[in-house]
Amino acid sequence: MLFKKLNLSAPILKAIAEEGYTTPTPVQAQAIPYILDGRDMLAGAQTGTGKTAGFTLPMLEILSHNLPQAKRHHIRALILTPTRELAAQVEASVKTYGKYLPFKSAVIFGGVGINPQINALKNGVDILVATPGRLLDLISQKAVDLSRVEMFVLDEADRMLDMGFIRDIRKVIALLPKQRQNLLFSATYSDEIKKLCESILRNPAIVEVARRNTSSELIKQSVILVDCKRKSALLGHLIDQNKWTQVLVFTRTKHGANKLSEYLQKMNITSAAIHGNKSQGARTKALSDFKAGTIRVLVATDIAARGLDIDSLPHVVNLELPNIAEDYVHRIGRTGRAGNVGEALSLVCVDEYEYLRGIEKLIKLNLDKSTVSGFEPDPSIKAEPISLGGGRGRGGNQRPRSSNGSAPKKRSGSTHNRDKNRR
Ligand code: AMP
Repeated sequence: MLFKKLNLSAPILKAIAEEGYTTPTPVQAQAIPYILDGRDMLAGAQTGTGKTAGFTLPMLEILSHNLPQAKRHHIRALILTPTRELAAQVEASVKTYGKYLPFKSAVIFGGVGINPQINALKNGVDILVATPGRLLDLISQKAVDLSRVEMFVLDEADRMLDMGFIRDIRKVIALLPKQRQNLLFSATYSDEIKKLCESILRNPAIVEVARRNTSSELIKQSVILVDCKRKSALLGHLIDQNKWTQVLVFTRTKHGANKLSEYLQKMNITSAAIHGNKSQGARTKALSDFKAGTIRVLVATDIAARGLDIDSLPHVVNLELPNIAEDYVHRIGRTGRAGNVGEALSLVCVDEYEYLRGIEKLIKLNLDKSTVSGFEPDPSIKAEPISLGGGRGRGGNQRPRSSNGSAPKKRSGSTHNRDKNRR
């Protein structure tokens, strides 16, 4: 199928063609006709599926049927996202796809000065992309008028709930006109999401492109077993040996992200850490350096990485497994995007076997496990609880110990044979 068949008008088709897109992705092919029909929609689609264009293109099309009069802009579409990065990326997409249309867009999120955002809003905006907290701040300052919103998009709704935004979302919704089109995107479909959908969506069309709670087939996933204290050294070794140039590495904590980034830099591997304690400027710079290839490794925590849009990212490494199995799916979703095969590698130590089992159960896959010569785990080391409140073994929220402490079945010997049984 070609974009031309989707009833999008010439200015939009021209912008898409300039991006080099010819064929709609599955979520786009399914969602765009429903949205153009004016239907509410629930789309089960992860980042990397092309979901942003999936709602942005038909939104621009619908709004373009009624173009703004000169200098008379008011907010007609509101897109809520969980993170600043995602908000910035979505607004960049609105600008890209809408570059031949006379709409004005703006993005608002916390962590940066509020005045430039107030000024942007004063100048008139048709399409507003926002994170909930800052939006509510601006509403309380009477800088935002949502009374004429025609389309409302909740992007990554599951992450919004995870991050505790439900009350903010409800406050925002209460300010929208009753008559509007609602689109809700979520990678997972929990009972909470179901409840949210029931309260927001009217007779929604349902589009689902990725199987629920399973990981993309375009991602080769594997596990290397290693002792906890040797993970950083192993990662440096793998990056060096395989000459990886663009690796996104996940750690569980901000402190761990900083420590790893410093360690890699000492090994002359260019790297930066991105997490919630970094200023917005530092996060934006780290991301743009990473995209430009100036730094080889971007180390991120789960929250900081949500919504990162990095084209064709070849490698994602879990230095530590996430304690929430669904986060694994989100993490590895950063690779294998828009048709490219990617590799997701997890470095797993004895303390994490229980997390690993939880992940394998969720994704319904037995991940290939191997070891790397010179980094084989010491079998005498016993599992210890993982502290989620900070560093290891220093209190905090301790997970229960593995009942038998047994290791996952190893499929390989002491050689690095990660190519076996991968998908
Ligand atoms: P998203 O899931 O919206 O984050 O999009 C993932 C990536 O796919 C983005 O970098 C888009 O630029 C890219 N993309 C979106 N739609 C298409 C398409 N139809 N053809 C090729 N690439 C696309």
